[in-house]
Amino acid sequence: MTAEIIYGSKIAEKIRANIKEEVQHLENNGVRPGLSVIIVGDNPASKSYVKFKQRACEKAGIQSDVIELPEHTTQEELLHHVKQLNEDPSVHGILVQLPLPDQIDEKVIIESISPEKDVDGFHPYNIGRLQTDQDAFVPCTPLGILAMVKESNIAITGKHVVVVGRSNIVGKPAGQLFLNEHATVTYCHSATKDLFNITKQADILIVAVGKAKMIKKESVKDGAVVIDVGNNYLSDGSLAGDVDFESVKEVASYITPVPKGVGPMTITMLLQNTLKAAKQISSKRG
Ligand code: NDP
Repeated sequence: MTAEIIYGSKIAEKIRANIKEEVQHLENNGVRPGLSVIIVGDNPASKSYVKFKQRACEKAGIQSDVIELPEHTTQEELLHHVKQLNEDPSVHGILVQLPLPDQIDEKVIIESISPEKDVDGFHPYNIGRLQTDQDAFVPCTPLGILAMVKESNIAITGKHVVVVGRSNIVGKPAGQLFLNEHATVTYCHSATKDLFNITKQADILIVAVGKAKMIKKESVKDGAVVIDVGNNYLSDGSLAGDVDFESVKEVASYITPVPKGVGPMTITMLLQNTLKAAKQISSKRG
């Protein structure tokens, strides 16, 4: 068997075209969706993520502003900026790029963002709503994964979904989303015993660890759907996922590549969440 490759890049293109149309429609009605990103310090990876996000916003017609703050910014100063954005009616989405410098408590900052502008879906209010299967802002990477699986017409109900990784931004919400879609979900993490015996039982395997090519074909069930979230830079500068793509594609039914897999879907879901926030906020204002 050779797996069908799910190109997130292609699915993302289609979704972004729809988003662009909806943004135009909103703008014709006097509302230009706006995303504000705050970045603290000079982390080069963070800076390039923010640039990608900005470029994607521009292409979709979403207003995007970046507030760049110095590394020594205090928590109070950052809270002040978030408060201003919370109160600014032209801002529909607020994103504070993580990680933050040590003097700032990420949890405090995340909780200071107005839940209705929390397009990253990290606020405990939105996490609680996701947990209780209510409409919420859902973190972009898991939302992108679900969109890819649905777009590929892969059945979820009753399937065994194994999620390797339990971070608040990827693993945990990914499992919760698939649970809400009636899958049977198993979470694995660094203390899991006999990991590969569990991954081998997955109908849908989602890997979000950050260890290059840790999942080999021996750890995957024949016909499984394999979603690779990992982004690992190898010593030669190339990018690899957490899954050994070449070997696993021989046994899987579907597999996502790295790059061009989950990555493009993540940014697309940020655009989608910003559009959703703009629609909700503007309809409340009437
Ligand atoms: P974190 O480092 O926050 O979490 C990693 C998770 O993997 C933890 O739950 C950890 O367990 C678990 N883990 C670590 N080692 C093992 C192991 N040997 N066996 C089983 N589980 C293990 O990472 P993120 O969730 O933020 O990201 C994961 C990967 O996804 C990274 O490569 C990141 O770059 C990528 N990523 C890609 C995105 C995209 O858009 N494509 C978006 C976000 C992330 P424990 O909790 O016990 O420590």
